[in-house]
Amino acid sequence: MPNYLAFASDNYAGICPEAWASMSEANTGFTKSYGDDDFTDRACKLLRELFETDCQVFFVFNGTAANSLALASLCRSYHSIICHELSHIETDECGAPEFFSNGTKILLASGPNGKINLGDVEYLIGRRSDIHYPKPNVLSITQSTELGTVYTTSELEAAGETSRKYGMRVQMDGARFANATASLECSPADISWRAGVDVLCLGGAKNGMAIGEAVVFFKKELALEFDYRCKQAGQLASKMRFLAAPWIGMLKDGIWLKRAAHANRCASLLAEQIRNIRQVEIMFPVQANAVFVRMPDHLVSGLRGIGWCFYSFIGAGGVRLICSWATEEADITALVNDIKKLSDLP
Ligand SMILES: *Cc1c(COP(=O)(O)O)cnc(C)c1O
Repeated sequence: MPNYLAFASDNYAGICPEAWASMSEANTGFTKSYGDDDFTDRACKLLRELFETDCQVFFVFNGTAANSLALASLCRSYHSIICHELSHIETDECGAPEFFSNGTKILLASGPNGKINLGDVEYLIGRRSDIHYPKPNVLSITQSTELGTVYTTSELEAAGETSRKYGMRVQMDGARFANATASLECSPADISWRAGVDVLCLGGAKNGMAIGEAVVFFKKELALEFDYRCKQAGQLASKMRFLAAPWIGMLKDGIWLKRAAHANRCASLLAEQIRNIRQVEIMFPVQANAVFVRMPDHLVSGLRGIGWCFYSFIGAGGVRLICSWATEEADITALVNDIKKLSDLP
């Protein structure tokens, strides 16, 4: 039987063997708590090596916390954050960024394929400069995007330049940063701090870990008292070694990128196989691990009737098929066959 849950979300997948092994390795004897342990120390060092800079790293439980707390640390309550209208911080965090920043307002920009239009950003910044308008202070960018596309290095550099021009900071929601890095085959530094990103929320769960994201500050002064912020928000793990250790396994031998590249490869394979099916339309360029598909209702309900699970929250008929480190080619074949079968029906 196919894995009917295989394309619903990359967080439907389990823990990949390397992350699991590291957790198991960390599970010996006593060690200091709250991040004062060797595993946390090693994971931070490996992230500094990966990003080729002396960044400051914090491990939190999930992406909502990483984004919200990172944004809160960059903003005062009278500031605003500019992001794409489909971004996770706007649509999927239950107001956490506003809550943790004590009311910082989110301003929405649009842009095709889930990428923020810098003209829109400049409009939102330049529209007003008086004291009655929430002062734009952060540009938040998602890499890879909520629509499975990837910002190129030069697009990110342009975003960084725009922010700098107006004295703003850049925060990156990198829940799928691994997929973006694998897709671009570039150095992580090039699409983060070298492009002007000040704080990166680096995803672990969707990459193959059980839990945990890393908040990476590329400017140390921005990390001031971030530890207190984490603690107050209930994000300081007492047994921190188990949040940190998986990073050690994932960063060894570039495993994090291999796992992400597999997910990306599965998505492009899936896209290739359904691209020419009658009644099926691929909605956005497939550049990471997600394929967005428009298809008629009878096809959507037919697939659900067979047992396939997927999200369809981005407008009429749009279905998101997403791959992970655990996706198998047999699942792709099974799904494609079912789509073909249903599309041949009248
Ligand atoms: C999954 C995801 C997150 C993190 O979500 P949590 O459920 O809070 O871990 C953040 N940003 C994006 C774009 C995501 O897809």
